[in-house]
Amino acid sequence: MNFFSSRIQRLSPSPTSGAAARAKALRERGRDIVILTTGEPDFDTPEHIVEAAYAAMKAGQTRYTATDGMPDLKQAVCDKFKRDNMLDISPANITVGTGAKQIIFNVFSVTVEAGDEAVVPAPYWVSYPHIVEYCGGRPVVVQCAPENRFKLTPEQLERAITRRTKWLVLNSPCNPSGAVYTSEELRSLGEVLRRHPQVWVLSDDIYEHLRYTGQPYATLAQVNPDLAARTVTLNGVSKAYAMTGWRIGYAAAPAELVKKLSVLQSQSTSSPSAPGQAGALAALTGSQDFMQAWNRQYRERRDCVVAAVNAIAGLRCDTPDGAFYAYVRCDGLIGGRDRSGRTIADDRDLSDYLLDQAGVAVVPGIAFGTSPAFRMSFATSRALLATACERMQQACERLDLPAA
Ligand code: PLP
Repeated sequence: MNFFSSRIQRLSPSPTSGAAARAKALRERGRDIVILTTGEPDFDTPEHIVEAAYAAMKAGQTRYTATDGMPDLKQAVCDKFKRDNMLDISPANITVGTGAKQIIFNVFSVTVEAGDEAVVPAPYWVSYPHIVEYCGGRPVVVQCAPENRFKLTPEQLERAITRRTKWLVLNSPCNPSGAVYTSEELRSLGEVLRRHPQVWVLSDDIYEHLRYTGQPYATLAQVNPDLAARTVTLNGVSKAYAMTGWRIGYAAAPAELVKKLSVLQSQSTSSPSAPGQAGALAALTGSQDFMQAWNRQYRERRDCVVAAVNAIAGLRCDTPDGAFYAYVRCDGLIGGRDRSGRTIADDRDLSDYLLDQAGVAVVPGIAFGTSPAFRMSFATSRALLATACERMQQACERLDLPAA
């Protein structure tokens, strides 16, 4: 008899956490490693948010709250959806969880039956297919073309949908590609979805505020209001407000689904942390002005990384429109040999090589379902990014490449 459930045996550890752990272990042994694996802002949570949470704790907000979020936070989330996304949502349609990740986990847990399918465009955020599988479902991965900036086309969506399709997962801006869907693109995807009423959409908008094009943001339910009744619009404070450790995410969803999410949460984690919710309330209701200055910095870092990467023979990278990652294609280095004669067979080998030989930690594309590539976070200082790119260039130049 096996002690561990078949569910947990289907699950593998998050590769992004694994890559970060290897890099940190090397650093602890004294190696100088530039860590570009992390998925969080390097800024501190703004002072007014920290102060609000502190004041809330001093005032006694240290106890359990309503299971799926305090009423005033739910109201602030409704106001946010109105302000930023022109969505009219009432508190009965809001759920608050311990990070957006918990909400994704809960959504699939309460809806996915064995054999149900979820369409996941690749490259994708590492956790979607794993959570679907954990819940007994089947991720249907659709490779999105770099020529289309790694975005899902309506034709691809139509081909991927079957009788068993229950979910489409959309993530804009996308981790890892930085792709941002326009309203027109979301409208075209909506036309396909209208032909398949059994398909729901998880629209993961967690990087909504990290965009660099100046175009207004669009989310699926806003562009296709008739699809709101089968859309979960997911967001959170982790990325926009540099609050990854506070663990607060939220979503708008049909009320029946919200109730089921609350049942699961009541039997698992109970309410999200009360001080975390106080901080999230301050984040959503306070000044949003600091985001412009942060985005200016992200944008400068992005431009410097993209230029430096494209100057390295064998690497190619499009300019991401959002989020804080560069998704670097590395076809040109596969098949190369290092000084010891070892072949770089895939992006995992290349990431290991960059860690060993350049002291730069990145996440191999295999983790995101699209290879050969790797993801570099640019949520770190320009000085560190410049050092990383310089060292990568030297290490890549040392590879002996097969004749083209
Ligand atoms: N969705 C995407 C695309 C992410 O990149 C992340 C975090 O890396 C999450 C969701 C989870 O965010 P949270 O910190 O709110 O759980």
